[in-house]
Amino acid sequence: MKNLLEGSIRAIYEELREKHPGMCACDACRTDVVAFSLNATHPRYTSGTDMGQALIGVDLQRDQTRAELAVIVLDAMRRVASNPRHPRTQTQTRAQS
Ligand SMILES: [Zn+2]
Repeated sequence: MKNLLEGSIRAIYEELREKHPGMCACDACRTDVVAFSLNATHPRYTSGTDMGQALIGVDLQRDQTRAELAVIVLDAMRRVASNPRHPRTQTQTRAQS
């Protein structure tokens, strides 16, 4: 379940990053954004049953769900951008990998 949501969050993050080129995209910031987003969504997606996981899989295909996740991911991006784990002068426009 967690991996399913994490995959969607990473995909949405990549989409949003292209629309916000000023945001740092180094590995540290990327990891922080995904972590913030997962923490923010976890309570809404908690379910230990197979049925719950099946519903989540379907739910993540919906535009409405993606839109809600995009709001959460964008908020996480802003939080990370305003308080990065490194000096702003080290901001990278693209991860060196
Ligand atoms: Zn960074």
